[in-house]
Amino acid sequence: MASIFTYITHKKGVVDDSALELISAAKVIDSDCKPTAIILGSPSEVAQVADEMAKSYTDVITVGNDALNYPNAEVYRKVLAALLPSHALLLVPHDTFGMDLSPGLSIKTDSSFASDVVGFEGMEGGKLKVIRQEYGGTVSTRSLCDIANGAIINIRAGVFKADESKAQHGAIVDKSSDIQDFSSKRTFVEVIEAEIGEVDITKSEILVSVGRGIGEEENIEMVHTLAKAMGGEVACSRPIVDAKWLEKSRQVGTSGQTVKPKVYLALGISGSFQHMGGIKGNPFIIAINKNPNAPIFQMADVGVVTDILEFIPALTEKINQAQ
Ligand code: FAD
Repeated sequence: MASIFTYITHKKGVVDDSALELISAAKVIDSDCKPTAIILGSPSEVAQVADEMAKSYTDVITVGNDALNYPNAEVYRKVLAALLPSHALLLVPHDTFGMDLSPGLSIKTDSSFASDVVGFEGMEGGKLKVIRQEYGGTVSTRSLCDIANGAIINIRAGVFKADESKAQHGAIVDKSSDIQDFSSKRTFVEVIEAEIGEVDITKSEILVSVGRGIGEEENIEMVHTLAKAMGGEVACSRPIVDAKWLEKSRQVGTSGQTVKPKVYLALGISGSFQHMGGIKGNPFIIAINKNPNAPIFQMADVGVVTDILEFIPALTEKINQAQ
């Protein structure tokens, strides 16, 4: 089996949860493997992140350069293509940046590409068998990924549990001076942070999050009532904001807020990667959905297959009776 590398996502020195999930994903591909972490970014940030990752990874490779201050996929692709040995497997989080980065990187390295991977089922005829989600998570598929020339594989967040086996003093190798070309046709100007409105769902420990399954605007009221009974805050998926049923500041996801609650109750939410990408910190996820094949059940700790329009009032009544 080829060497496995992981792409470490970090922001302002804070490492994304995916960093430890990718170790678990690598070990499902090859139980004996010790994946190597690759960290790119500004020199100061990279040094800080590398120290943290060396507690979990045996080998860490860094490239620090001011040209990597912003996640400009065009520059990152050049650097990664120069770093990766031929035939390598690179695991990348399946988030907005991962989707910008990976397809082009696979072309640059002449390797295979698989997006939104949620599982591996060993090798078949020399090819890696992957389970992927397609069409926004509405369909799961099995594919054979030819890894003879290596592959870039995007892994969905939250599917593989974080590998917490720490206690390592990994070797950190700084490859900054090996890379000469940081040029780009794209000039990154600034990151526009999502606005925090009157309600700050990023601080809430209990989120009662509602999706399109709620059906009609008038049903939103029962979600507020349940959230109040649970001592939590109402959050939502993007279609609810698009329909103007709730404020943008309540939207969880890659184009909304990043939240870190202890409990996340998902009501009528399918579990798209854009939504789940906004949920960090490994909360206890309870998913209620009438479709037993909804992708969210793959990430949930507890799942209930039922109609939320019956479930929400019933749960609210139970909680109020218990108080
Ligand atoms: P759906 O995918 O329509 O799912 C509704 C679910 O409700 C289904 O699983 C269905 O089975 C279930 N259901 C229906 N009726 C009931 C019922 N009565 N009882 C129980 N279950 C029921 N989305 C975000 O959420 N956040 C983002 O930040 C975000 N950013 C995006 C950025 C980009 C660039 C793009 C392209 C998309 C983005 N999206 C985002 C949209 C995302 O792709 C999904 O379309 C969205 O998350 C789906 O929302 P949903 O789960 O509420 O709706």
